[in-house]
Amino acid sequence: MISKMKKILIGITFVVSGFLGYLFLFSKLFTFSPIIIGFNKHELYNTIIYVQKGADYNDFTRIDTLIPSIENFHDLKFTPKPEIFIFGDSLSFIKRSFSKARFSAYPSGRLIISPWAIKEDQQGKISLGIYVRHELSHVLLMQKMSYLESYQYPKWLMEGIAVYSTNQMGTSFYPSKDETYHAMAQGNFLPPFDFKTNREDKTKLNVKYRIAFMYSEFGCIVDYLVASYGKTKFLLYMKSLLKDDDHDKIFKQIYGIDFDKFLMNFRQFVEKNDTFKTIK
Ligand SMILES: [Zn+2]
Repeated sequence: MISKMKKILIGITFVVSGFLGYLFLFSKLFTFSPIIIGFNKHELYNTIIYVQKGADYNDFTRIDTLIPSIENFHDLKFTPKPEIFIFGDSLSFIKRSFSKARFSAYPSGRLIISPWAIKEDQQGKISLGIYVRHELSHVLLMQKMSYLESYQYPKWLMEGIAVYSTNQMGTSFYPSKDETYHAMAQGNFLPPFDFKTNREDKTKLNVKYRIAFMYSEFGCIVDYLVASYGKTKFLLYMKSLLKDDDHDKIFKQIYGIDFDKFLMNFRQFVEKNDTFKTIK
């Protein structure tokens, strides 16, 4: 006869595995789930695209052909192929995503795309191509790191690389480079390492779209680094941080200047190059 204790243990195991199964298949652990239910799988040359049953999307080539330009910019290859999930049902997307963002990239190498992103692309409000390239820039870098390392990678730099490499400034909600320079010259500036900290919320920014401005600001910093010191040095900086989280040490080693001093130089450059300053 099974003892009472054994019955309780079996019961607990049953409930815990059921709960975990639910989390992986239908909730927040979805992007790490080894089993996928409710999607049609399309294995392409560069990517694996999963389309939720009932979703209206079939332009797979448009997404798959974006991969070479992303690999070229970063001088890195996707291994394995990134997995892209296109949702048709908003509720199931919200249940499985950690954020309400249109697109979310995960260290598991997966990118999830909301139904409203597909709709906004069809309406011409956003460009699916730019956003997918942006997110896959994150996926590519995260593929080269452990989960802990990707958590420690400078978040501002990850966004700056994604914005700069996709020429995202000046598209949809993102201010153009000139508009961003003008806003920065007027005193709107988030110190990069304040991004995603409590200090970010306390920083006043007199801009139309706060997050899009921050992303464009980081894109401008990357643009300035590449223009001033070259792409080769930039790639060395980007790649060195994949394995070493001492940002300031790496920055000084590669650029020969303290990061704080570099930021001061950047802000002086911005003030001198604010093309809108005479327009009031
Ligand atoms: Zn991003």
